[in-house]
Amino acid sequence: MKIKHLLSLICFGISTILLKRKKPILGTIILTDYCNLSCKHCAVNNINRQMFSYKSIRKEMECFYKEGIRILFFCGGETVLWQDSGKNVKDLIREAKEIGFYIVNIVTNGTVDLNFPEADVIFLSLDGNRLSHNIIRGDTYDLILKNLSRAEGCNICIYMAVNKLNYSHIEDVCQLTKEYSNINSISFNFHTPYKGTESLILNMEEKRIAVSTIRKMVKEGMPIFNLYSALDAFLKNDWPRPCYQCIVSENNKRYICGRCVQIDGLCKECGYLFAVEFSLLCKGNIPAIFDMLKTYIKYV
Ligand code: SF4
Ligand code: SF4
Repeated sequence: MKIKHLLSLICFGISTILLKRKKPILGTIILTDYCNLSCKHCAVNNINRQMFSYKSIRKEMECFYKEGIRILFFCGGETVLWQDSGKNVKDLIREAKEIGFYIVNIVTNGTVDLNFPEADVIFLSLDGNRLSHNIIRGDTYDLILKNLSRAEGCNICIYMAVNKLNYSHIEDVCQLTKEYSNINSISFNFHTPYKGTESLILNMEEKRIAVSTIRKMVKEGMPIFNLYSALDAFLKNDWPRPCYQCIVSENNKRYICGRCVQIDGLCKECGYLFAVEFSLLCKGNIPAIFDMLKTYIKYV
């Protein structure tokens, strides 16, 4: 990240905390709900099987930027399958950079292609070791690792959604960083129980075990992208939500924090650690700010 961008984000953070502002800084644009997978924990794939138009995505990128958003995520469905008007995800990343976004990231299931050196961070979903990942995401583990080994020069962050089927495999996922030099970090989320996926949520004891494994991994020097202090707030479930600094846009409709905000009662059981982390940071939580200085800057 450029120093001037970092300083600008720090100014945003200070003014948000001091003036208790609700202005967003992080925007996510969903490009499509079409996906080539059908993961057990997913509630958003293939509802309309729609690729959203380039025109509307471009317009939303410009609106986001004018509104002060500087960190941009592209998501799906399967993000890298998106195409419209002769454009693909690589074009969108390039255009987002030209518009002026400081950080442009993508989230992908890694089954199509992982070669996106244009992105600042590629968040690659990998949900356990071969056994648990394949139970959750279909027989895709080996294909993803093959694509991973071909993605030279890319900044890849493994993105694991921890649930009942895989919480004992957190260490296995961390070990991959030793085998693949382009895995620069690992980010954990916990399962959020969308309708039909409630059986995958961890009970309190299982959450404690998973959190203590993540803490152990941090202490052993594994490149964990999450904020150490936010894990406590997650366990206590006492963090303020929704997080007003994050906006999600899908097909011209916007949501504060996440699309999940519209589902009654779901925020109380939120497992998205990024929401916990951003929320704490923007409220001026001192331990979270120190952790952020130690972690985010290292991996972006
Ligand atoms: S890859 Fe992502 S969008 Fe597709 S089914 Fe799995 S979780 Fe859902
Ligand atoms: S707090 Fe935010 S990320 Fe969590 S469930 Fe609610 S809207 Fe979704």
